[in-house]
Amino acid sequence: MIPRRPSYRDIPLYAPSKRPCRVDLSDNTNLHGVPPSAQRVLRETAQDVSRYPRGYAPDLRRALATRAGVPPESVTTGCGSDDVIDSALRAFMEPGDTLAFQDPTFVMVPLFAKVNGLRAVPVPLTPDFDVDAEALLATKARVIYLCSPNNPTGTALSRPAVERVVDGAAGIVIIDEAYADFAPGMDFLDLGRTRPNVLVTRTFSKAFGLAGLRVGWGVGAPELVAEVEKARGPYKLTSVGEAVAVSVLAEDGDWVRARAEEAVACRERLRGELLALGLSPLRSAANFLMVPVPGALAVAERMRERDVNVRAFQALTGVGDALRIGVGPWPLMETALTALREALR
Ligand code: PMP
Repeated sequence: MIPRRPSYRDIPLYAPSKRPCRVDLSDNTNLHGVPPSAQRVLRETAQDVSRYPRGYAPDLRRALATRAGVPPESVTTGCGSDDVIDSALRAFMEPGDTLAFQDPTFVMVPLFAKVNGLRAVPVPLTPDFDVDAEALLATKARVIYLCSPNNPTGTALSRPAVERVVDGAAGIVIIDEAYADFAPGMDFLDLGRTRPNVLVTRTFSKAFGLAGLRVGWGVGAPELVAEVEKARGPYKLTSVGEAVAVSVLAEDGDWVRARAEEAVACRERLRGELLALGLSPLRSAANFLMVPVPGALAVAERMRERDVNVRAFQALTGVGDALRIGVGPWPLMETALTALREALR
């Protein structure tokens, strides 16, 4: 018999309902494909993979520091921003400590709490999907997790509410900005630059089109980042992932920006079509739309039968049942709309 860890007994493996579908709008990745320089760098770096990467991804750290306007010591990286967030929780919390987070939010957060033995305290968003600063602060949590634009609602948090949380927090505030590239000017990177207790996390998985390479990063005060790197350990970034991310930052900025702008335009067009169907999609600042639909799980299953995969949620706080539809080139949106119309019939 395997001596299973009791607190892990009811942890499910991450398995969003998926069947291979021709149109997969379920994971908010870049549906326009791979940035141009990535293919070249993948070929060039193939011969390096017999050796370990350098620890702590120094080239990427430097490139990101330049981009973020901070010293390299203020940047951490990881195997996706998942890894950066998980490492930050390990860095600052002992088992039993309280992690407070907005609800609803990124489904992995309660799971990170569970695997790290933390007490998870979800705090509902306000009716207009802003963060409830006073309720979060009242938890006296050692770490508070915020997400803007938020997955799965797509909504962005307001600056006064976020600053109130940062000003009043007893410990660290993680601001997850996986979708910030779709909402220029609405981000909180400045708080990662200037406040001692803030870690802002970002990813190459969404706008940057590199989800399969697993590259995430974060910005915070050097003392804070050093603790995260300690908890993370070396070699979490592959040499290939580091090299491609560096080249995409250097060469593909226009491609990334243009695709993000196209995603935003398609999102608003899709929102109009959904409103015309009598649905009430939430206002989104990300590359997906959340659409409240009663019985969303069954609707999503009927869409999958029509070769379109979207993510369904059940009984979300303040939302109810809902579909989350990733946004990409318009022809894919038309296919999704047809499937949705048929699934709703
Ligand atoms: N944060 C949010 C809000 C996300 O939606 C995701 C991906 N679904 C992540 C973090 C993790 O992304 P990655 O690990 O690919 O960087």
